[in-house]
Amino acid sequence: MSAATIALLGQPNSGKSTLFNALTGMRQHVGNWPGKTVEKKEGSFAHDGKTYEVADLPGSYSMSANSDEEVITRDYITSGKADVVCILADSSQLERSLFMLADYAGIDAPCFLVLNMEDVAKDQGKIVNVKALEDKLGIPVMQFSATDTKAYDQFYTTLERALKRKSHIKVDNLEKEYEKIEGYNEIKSQIADGTVKGYTPMWLTVKYLENDKVVSAELKDKIPADKMTKIESIERRSGAIATGECKFKWIDELLDGAVNKTKTDVKLGKLDRIYTNRFWGKPAVVLTVILGLLGSFIPALPIMAAASIVDIIRDAVAGALTSAGCAPFLMGLICDVFIQSFGYIIKMLGFVFGVTLVFGLLEEVGVMARISYVFDNTMGKLGLQGKSVMPFLVSFGCTIGGAAGARVIDSWGQKVLTIALAWAVPCGAAWAIVPMLSTVFFGMGAPVVIIALLLVMILHMWITAKIFGAKLVKTEERCGMIMELPPYHKPKWGALFRYVFRTHQGYILQSA
Ligand code: GDP
Ligand code: MG
Repeated sequence: MSAATIALLGQPNSGKSTLFNALTGMRQHVGNWPGKTVEKKEGSFAHDGKTYEVADLPGSYSMSANSDEEVITRDYITSGKADVVCILADSSQLERSLFMLADYAGIDAPCFLVLNMEDVAKDQGKIVNVKALEDKLGIPVMQFSATDTKAYDQFYTTLERALKRKSHIKVDNLEKEYEKIEGYNEIKSQIADGTVKGYTPMWLTVKYLENDKVVSAELKDKIPADKMTKIESIERRSGAIATGECKFKWIDELLDGAVNKTKTDVKLGKLDRIYTNRFWGKPAVVLTVILGLLGSFIPALPIMAAASIVDIIRDAVAGALTSAGCAPFLMGLICDVFIQSFGYIIKMLGFVFGVTLVFGLLEEVGVMARISYVFDNTMGKLGLQGKSVMPFLVSFGCTIGGAAGARVIDSWGQKVLTIALAWAVPCGAAWAIVPMLSTVFFGMGAPVVIIALLLVMILHMWITAKIFGAKLVKTEERCGMIMELPPYHKPKWGALFRYVFRTHQGYILQSA
């Protein structure tokens, strides 16, 4: 019997998984949400003789229905499975990370707020007045560092308080902002309390204004036709931009007087001064990725070298089969197909291991965020995010490495699109073979052939992006997401190795 179920909600990198792992330790199971490729992580822990269930909800930026992750998160919260929702925010960048809380306000599920990364905020000289925030929000608020194992007592106390109070976010001031939006009051007056379970009319009106497909369909289904006609007659001109402004304004008011900055101006580190430089930023990122790819061979080479044992086994088997008078066809099948492929799989496994480890590490410490930052605009034109530049560059060396590296991209659609495009980038082997064959067959015409091939490659990528881009990556997701550089972190080796291990489980299953 469990005492309570807690759902962890927060934007990517707010520390959900860190908190989840610290709470549940080994008592967790990872699977997929039914019918989806989105990872489902659940676990449990005991405290003070009571057992708690925890769900680590997929990372999403808001409560909109733009991606599978967001729909799953929203459905889980309103299903009532959780007794309390723990909303995480990053103390070092509250303006941005409280957006999730603002978007949550109006959902009918009790919650509390954890301001994580206290250590980083302190380093920046930011002091948060937790009590003031608690008064303004009407829900329990606490601040700590999820990475600090000694800080958890406070978490348990706040959790107990939240479970007892079951409080909701005070929305009066937020709604005052919404009321200024054209059409808000008219739409809201047509939506009765309890129209859609789990949401207040305010929240539904806002999502309808934002053109949220799921909410719009639901309202159409639940609201009497005459009222729906009235709603539909109101133009949703301002949309998500207007409601977004309201949310940010509300956050500003919330933080006004609640955050004190003792140090002015956080100085950019030396490295960030290079990355954010208009001229040097891109070459620096390309260099970083190339070094990362080369670095991947350090952990990969021992495994790849060990795979040579397979060659020795193959020769031994071939020798034995020959002396046994085995048919050449059968020998070829056994030695060249089965044994050799097995060796090849181990070699590739070593390579994928290296790439996953190194680029996972770059993600952990925050370098990947810099890569995103520098390339967000360029990649945004293809509907991708800045991180996609990494798989592209790696694919010049090896396509498999590029595809494996695409793991660090958070959105499923962007991940798939990146792999679909990176596939066309000629890899190391192609660079060696294409010029040679072109010269053999076309002589002096070879350069023209090579250029033509490159043009076809670009055309291929362009067509793929045109056909699949809109389906895989919704226009709402296409804006650059990094507005502020997150701080560098010390890597958490445990989390990194779990991540590498899970990647390999998948790879071994696929090759088997
Ligand atoms: P998620 O995307 O919400 O699951 O976030 P993670 O738990 O993966 O955390 C993102 C990064 O922030 C990881 O590198 C964590 O080690 C780091 N991190 C999490 N909590 C803290 C904290 O309180 N202080 C610091 N300095 N780093 C943290
Ligand atoms: Mg996570």
